[in-house]
Amino acid sequence: MTNAETPNSTATDIAANLAEVRKAIADAARAAGRDPSGVTLVAVGKVQPVEKLDAALEAGQRVFGENRVQEAKAKFPERRERWPDIELHLIGPLQTNKVKEAVALFDVIQTVDRPKLAVALAEEMAKQGKHPRCYVEVNTGAEPQKAGILPQEVGDFLEKCRTEYGLPIEGLMCIPPADEEPALHFALLADLAKRHGLAGISMGMSGDYETAVRFGATHVRVGTAIFGERKPKE
Ligand SMILES: *Cc1c(COP(=O)(O)O)cnc(C)c1O
Repeated sequence: MTNAETPNSTATDIAANLAEVRKAIADAARAAGRDPSGVTLVAVGKVQPVEKLDAALEAGQRVFGENRVQEAKAKFPERRERWPDIELHLIGPLQTNKVKEAVALFDVIQTVDRPKLAVALAEEMAKQGKHPRCYVEVNTGAEPQKAGILPQEVGDFLEKCRTEYGLPIEGLMCIPPADEEPALHFALLADLAKRHGLAGISMGMSGDYETAVRFGATHVRVGTAIFGERKPKE
């Protein structure tokens, strides 16, 4: 092994990190007058060695997020044989040519971000008879380079998902601009979800998940705080 850590200490670290993140979520929920069970921790193990995923699974974590279809496909099917109750969320951009694999693999698709994708997902779900829960990604900062529906277009898009595309939507997700106060974006996303009667609100990452919980997140997506820094592939 080139890594100085032994697998055991890694597993212990990850169990401890998970416990810490879970406690911070529960504390933030209670401080906001919320029931901690209303917040789901989505553990983001992208790019991390699979030993770390297994350590999280051994520590009882079952909900995971991945941002690439191929990577998730390489890691999760064999783990589902051992842990059948794994719940897998797609949190990265989805190309229409990967829709078939995504519908087959994921329980939740958080990144519905354009009409063409919504149509392709609805068609593929009908074909497979499998219906992953869907979230619309909202570009809360209206960043030109970023995916997502603009806040002022969310109502229209949701309506079309319902009536035209035949794709039921469970919630909204956002990735706030890196250089801005995330609380403003969390408040906006929570308000949009409430206005449109959506139960799911996916927001908050390692640096800001407690804030997200205070603003009503039902799902926080946490990677680094559980698994450590992501190392570039060798
Ligand atoms: C990688 C990623 C996360 C986790 O980020 P951390 O800062 O490591 O917690 C959350 N959401 C999305 C969409 C990501 O791509």
